[in-house]
Amino acid sequence: MTAQVISGKEVAAGVRAKVKSAVQTLPSQPTLAVVLVGEDPASQVYVRSKVRLTEEVGMRSLHHQLPETATQAEVETLIADLNADPEVDGILLQLPLPNGLDEASAIEQIDPAKDVDGLTEASAGRLSLGKLGLRPCTPTGCVILAKSALGENLSGKHVVVIGRSILVGKPAALLFLAENCTISIAHSRTADLPALCREADIVVPAVGRPEMVKGDWLKPGACVIDVGINRVLAPEKGEGKTRLVGDADYESCAAVAGSITPVPGGVGPMTIACLLRNTVIAACARRGWDGVGSF
Ligand code: NDP
Repeated sequence: MTAQVISGKEVAAGVRAKVKSAVQTLPSQPTLAVVLVGEDPASQVYVRSKVRLTEEVGMRSLHHQLPETATQAEVETLIADLNADPEVDGILLQLPLPNGLDEASAIEQIDPAKDVDGLTEASAGRLSLGKLGLRPCTPTGCVILAKSALGENLSGKHVVVIGRSILVGKPAALLFLAENCTISIAHSRTADLPALCREADIVVPAVGRPEMVKGDWLKPGACVIDVGINRVLAPEKGEGKTRLVGDADYESCAAVAGSITPVPGGVGPMTIACLLRNTVIAACARRGWDGVGSF
């Protein structure tokens, strides 16, 4: 079998198109505030593309830059100001924060109504209780990608999520559970992970170990949603060159799976698309607008 390639680029473009048309029906532009502390080059790149894509879907983007030397109090005061600003619908604190700053404490300052990254304790609690709330972006992207390959109804599918981080593994498992899937959450102490994966209709590796999941770990026809992003040496491209690979060994998995996300171009592009989607959801919920019917 040669797997269907699930294009995260295409699915993410579809999500952004839906966001754009939802925005056009709203009484005013939703606003996403992005906070960047310090000069981390990778974070600067992410923030630039978040700003660009926010504006592309017709929303307003506010970019707040704090210096590397900013104190915890300065970061949290800025977040408090954004919480209080009625024009701001979503607040994104770009992680990681510079060394010495307490990320968990800073995240907790974000008003849950504006928590478009879905990372506050309130958002996590709402997800685990099955209550309405803002959901973490990458895990939401995983569910949308699985639906794009398998159809809207995932009910009864056995999903094995490999990884139990707060950012990805746990919320991904809870989101698939909310779709009436049967969930197994695997981690570094799981016994016989290949055998567990072989039972899965959907495998979601979120580990950070290059090409760990092999084709013979999969049930024929399974769907692989590969969250992992790992930079490895690529001597074939020249000395010192690198390339990105996922947590699944693409070649052997694609020979057995029914569908699979590539890396790059799979889960990655979904994260920002879901951030924009969350900003519209947050704006509608906070301002009493009815604009997310198409989601
Ligand atoms: P973490 O390091 O926080 O979590 C990794 C998880 O993998 C842990 O739960 C760990 O288990 C588990 N694990 C480690 N080794 C093994 C093993 N040998 N077998 C089974 N499980 C194992 O990582 P994140 O969740 O933050 O990220 C995971 C991956 O996803 C990374 O590659 C990251 O770059 C990528 N990522 C991609 C995003 C995207 O937009 N596509 C966004 C966020 C992350 P234990 O708990 O027992 O230690």
